[in-house]
Amino acid sequence: MPKILMLAGDGIGPEIMEEAKKILSLFKDTFDFSFVEKPIGGAGIDKHGDPFPSETANEALTADAILLGAVGGPQWDSFPMAQRPEKGLLAIRKELGLFANLRPVKIWPALAGFSPLRPEKLENVSFTVVRELTGDVYFGQPRGIEIRGGTRVGFNTMIYSEDEIRRIAKIAFDMARKSQKIVHSIDKANVLETMRFWREIVSDVHKDYPDVHLEHFYVDNTAMQLIRQPSAFDVMLTPNMFGDILSDEAAVLSGSLGMLPSASIGGKQALYEPIHGSAPDIAGQGLANPIGMILSVAMMLEISFGRQDYAKIIDKAVGDCLAEGLRTGDIWSEGMQKVSTAAMGDAVAGKVAAAI
Ligand code: NAD
Repeated sequence: MPKILMLAGDGIGPEIMEEAKKILSLFKDTFDFSFVEKPIGGAGIDKHGDPFPSETANEALTADAILLGAVGGPQWDSFPMAQRPEKGLLAIRKELGLFANLRPVKIWPALAGFSPLRPEKLENVSFTVVRELTGDVYFGQPRGIEIRGGTRVGFNTMIYSEDEIRRIAKIAFDMARKSQKIVHSIDKANVLETMRFWREIVSDVHKDYPDVHLEHFYVDNTAMQLIRQPSAFDVMLTPNMFGDILSDEAAVLSGSLGMLPSASIGGKQALYEPIHGSAPDIAGQGLANPIGMILSVAMMLEISFGRQDYAKIIDKAVGDCLAEGLRTGDIWSEGMQKVSTAAMGDAVAGKVAAAI
């Protein structure tokens, strides 16, 4: 029986994880699974003094798939870097070898009017950000804050090995083969050696994919093109830091950070999580949008368990709820029905239950 590890985490994490469980349990009759819940991030620090406790790490290594809410919060902000909640997230990605983060961006017709872009700019927008996840300046050594020449300096190292670039580029080209066959590789090759190397290796990997069109874009231009002509993108291949930033920008095209799911793959098991953080400003008030989390369940069912049929049912249920005017606060506008986290989860669950 497949085992799913649930890591609710902090802030709104536990609230949206409840809605994920609600949806998942509907498939129990035909998809038998067990699940186990463990702490990560701030919850791990509070319980075990560690953002990635060993009991969580052990469960992660034996799980078939992992669902994660979000980590972080102001109560841990003053902790030293190595003991902060976000370290738990970096640690589980590293431990499981999850080097590729897939972030599909799509526009829900019912929310087109809510996007900061004009509706006509959003026609045919559907792309996936393939973000490298375990390298770059987030992991590069040396790093630190120290005194040099009598003054304090902060420093990090942007570094990529050839193998790291090759394996993420292959994932992007393989994905493009299944969609519009276009890859935009994002870099800053005009000023950074690491990024010149990135461009060279991506171009080399591309030789094995002559059927896929490759474009190299500078990250600053990409930030602009995402607003100017988002429909031009199909698969956007990014290094870790640029992908972190661009995928948040891409998220608002769809109306809210709360709408987007993601999958982190590359190891034996994959990890699924909404792209937003722990939203401490709205935690515990039933205000969080659970859709990014619910769509992460759909991605898990499709990618880890081969149930594209279930994923489609969930996707349609979300679309139908939005079309009926149900909205959490982050996507609410005049004339729509404002609902709580749990009520949105119930509504999606009702439609999923009716479809299976
Ligand atoms: P955030 O994504 O938590 O919130 C940004 C804004 O979006 C906030 O106004 C928040 O209320 C809103 N928002 C986010 N998700 C929402 C949802 N589902 N429904 C409704 N509104 C939503 O980012 P932040 O404020 O920069 O960071 C807060 C904490 O989360 C920090 O500790 C940060 O380190 C952490 N963080 C964690 C992750 C993760 O766990 N993957 C990712 C990003 C940030």
